[in-house]
Amino acid sequence: MRKVRDGLYIGNITDAAAVLSSAEADSSRRLSPAAAAVTHLLSLISRGINPLDFKRPAHIPDPDQELQQVAGEQTCTPIPSSSSSSSPASSSPGNSKLKKLTVPLLDSQSQNLLDHLDECLEFIESGRKDGGIVLVHCFAGVSRSGAVVTAYLMKKECLTMDNALESLKKASEIVCPNDGFRQQLLMFEEMGCTVNRESDVYKSFQLAKKGDADMRRQKIGISGYAADPAGHTTTEKNNSLVSGDKRLLNSQPSTVYRCKKCRQVVASEENVITHIPGAGLTSFKWRKRGVKGSGTDEPVQPECTSIFVQPMQWMTPVQEGMVESKLQCVKCEARLGNFNWAGMQCSCGTWVNPAFQLHKSRVDAAPL
Ligand SMILES: [Zn+2]
Ligand SMILES: [Zn+2]
Repeated sequence: MRKVRDGLYIGNITDAAAVLSSAEADSSRRLSPAAAAVTHLLSLISRGINPLDFKRPAHIPDPDQELQQVAGEQTCTPIPSSSSSSSPASSSPGNSKLKKLTVPLLDSQSQNLLDHLDECLEFIESGRKDGGIVLVHCFAGVSRSGAVVTAYLMKKECLTMDNALESLKKASEIVCPNDGFRQQLLMFEEMGCTVNRESDVYKSFQLAKKGDADMRRQKIGISGYAADPAGHTTTEKNNSLVSGDKRLLNSQPSTVYRCKKCRQVVASEENVITHIPGAGLTSFKWRKRGVKGSGTDEPVQPECTSIFVQPMQWMTPVQEGMVESKLQCVKCEARLGNFNWAGMQCSCGTWVNPAFQLHKSRVDAAPL
């Protein structure tokens, strides 16, 4: 196990086994003083995994020790223990009251990390607050534990994901949350290091989970999608011809989006999933397309050329279970945009996942 901060360690399944065997006074293995001092054990492991099945045999050296020698780092300072390292764990007062939290989590991109963060971060914080020693571990000490400790550092120290990860890697260079966890950590960052279930970021995350379920061919009933806004609005609002200028007025309570060609209502403001523009500018070559009257050589502050919406009932290929396809107006079949359950990059650089995209050049926004 490796020291991240005072009272906070990260490790793998054998580290957890050492802690647990200390707590159970199992002296079959040479006890590490660090393991014996752990007071709080946060396990992020698959269901049915018992860390004690992964107890490192005494003759196999702790790879952390080797790593340390190679790297010449001082990051893994042994935790001072009140008892000598060779004594059985039962005599270690710190460990006799080991508090445990096990969160079943796979190291898979599709796993829901966000919904576990509150619980995990509270556990870590309560352990450290009491002057305890917290070990956060998963199987390899790479992805799951790396993601949770990164989230903790982000919140505790007001760091961006990148900075938190960089800092964590100084303690354990093998840390590498999987891409799905990274995406969720970026969402966590966007939400101000809380899990705000009312935010657009969280709602779009929920949609993404739905998309994953879809891709696993777990059929989603049609009721799972937003109702076709045209169904409610066409009769009453047919005559409200609106000029494009009015889209600049943001104060009106509700806006609808119509197919430019045939005026069919394709989305309402309630269906729009907003995103923070420009998150990925540096890695994205932006090319304007379909924007009238704009020069093509001045992409200073790229605007969003699309809106992103919830999946809706008129989106036939979505209903048919496709993973990605184009979106056509249900009435005149004009091409309105694309969708991809795996996400798409907006012209501003931000990833939207999943993405149901309507080109602004193909729809008109107008007050209802
Ligand atoms: Zn955008
Ligand atoms: Zn149309």
